[in-house]
Amino acid sequence: PSQGIFSPPGTGKLPSHGIFSPPMCAGCDTPISDRFLLRVNERSWHEACVKCAVCLQPLAGTCYSRNRQLYCKHDYEKLFQTKCSSCLKAIAPSELIMRVLENVYHVHCFYCCECERRLQRGDEFVLKEGQLLCRSDYEKEKEMLSAISPAPTEAGPARSLPMGKVAAGGDEGQRRL
Ligand SMILES: [Zn+2]
Ligand SMILES: [Zn+2]
Ligand SMILES: [Zn+2]
Ligand SMILES: [Zn+2]
Repeated sequence: PSQGIFSPPGTGKLPSHGIFSPPMCAGCDTPISDRFLLRVNERSWHEACVKCAVCLQPLAGTCYSRNRQLYCKHDYEKLFQTKCSSCLKAIAPSELIMRVLENVYHVHCFYCCECERRLQRGDEFVLKEGQLLCRSDYEKEKEMLSAISPAPTEAGPARSLPMGKVAAGGDEGQRRL
């Protein structure tokens, strides 16, 4: 004896327009009783709920979705698009990339930041704060770094302000009980 009729929990009555429950908005999870709804990504949305999850701007025309959230092009690209760690430009999905740890580079951006020699597969290089260094430049830099590696120096006396002087009028230490 299944009737196939479901009323939305908590409403206590059947929706007035037949056996169809009002569509639920994928944005705010409440039924849509508006005259218009938007279909985005196979789901229904209140017109007002179709907005970017980041900048909250209403989205018209194109929108991007990921993990059930909608985004404007700008924020979507900022959040999800792969960017080259060297030129910081977006990498199209079809482009060839070089990947080092969590950094991704255009193939043509994959060069030593010192001598600008393209690094090839099999080359030795190091990644230093997102910058690529070929092995020999890294060795050079290491030598330089150790050459200027700071010896412990004393912090002062750069200033000649006398210490321990109490501001005029202060009677610290002269308090009499
Ligand atoms: Zn909604
Ligand atoms: Zn946005
Ligand atoms: Zn690049
Ligand atoms: Zn180099």
